[in-house]
Amino acid sequence: MVLVLAGGKAHAQSPAASGPRQLATASVQTTKPNLNEHSLLLYNTHTGERLSIVYRRGDEYLPGALAKLDYFLRDHVNNDVRHFDPRLYDILSDLAASVGHPGGEIDIVCGYRSPATNASLREHTTGVAKNSLHIQAEAIDLRMPGVDSLTLRRAALALHRGGVGYYPHSDFIHVDTGRVRQWCFNCSAALAAGQ
Ligand SMILES: [Zn+2]
Repeated sequence: MVLVLAGGKAHAQSPAASGPRQLATASVQTTKPNLNEHSLLLYNTHTGERLSIVYRRGDEYLPGALAKLDYFLRDHVNNDVRHFDPRLYDILSDLAASVGHPGGEIDIVCGYRSPATNASLREHTTGVAKNSLHIQAEAIDLRMPGVDSLTLRRAALALHRGGVGYYPHSDFIHVDTGRVRQWCFNCSAALAAGQ
């Protein structure tokens, strides 16, 4: 916007500058959307699928991208798909940036969980909530290659944008778009205190 305005001034002062001004404007128009593009690079640890996607441009979430993400994050047991809260993608994107890896690959440990899958998990493992936000497609469990999960946890807590769970023994964190809260599963007192 500022560049266009400056170009306009130059044009008013000197008609000869109209050529370069248009070039400059065109340059702004082609590069500016990229600055507003929000993207994610994801790897699904259950399906082995990898997805590199621009999911948001400016303030607009891209419906086609959201549909692909919904499928990518499907229940890996029965392939059920549910529409995800796209604010989760902003959390993931900001999380990667805040640990110094903007656009870095995020391993998805768990996305959507159907009620049946969640019930089955509860039977066979510990640390699975009955009313898990995974069932609402409002939670994602993740880790990042090259970033320890404690660092990720701290970064997620600093965002203050929903729930953050830490599972040090399984080496992943949980983020969701529910109310701001945190827990540490099977943690020492020091770890639970965030040390
Ligand atoms: Zn979770």
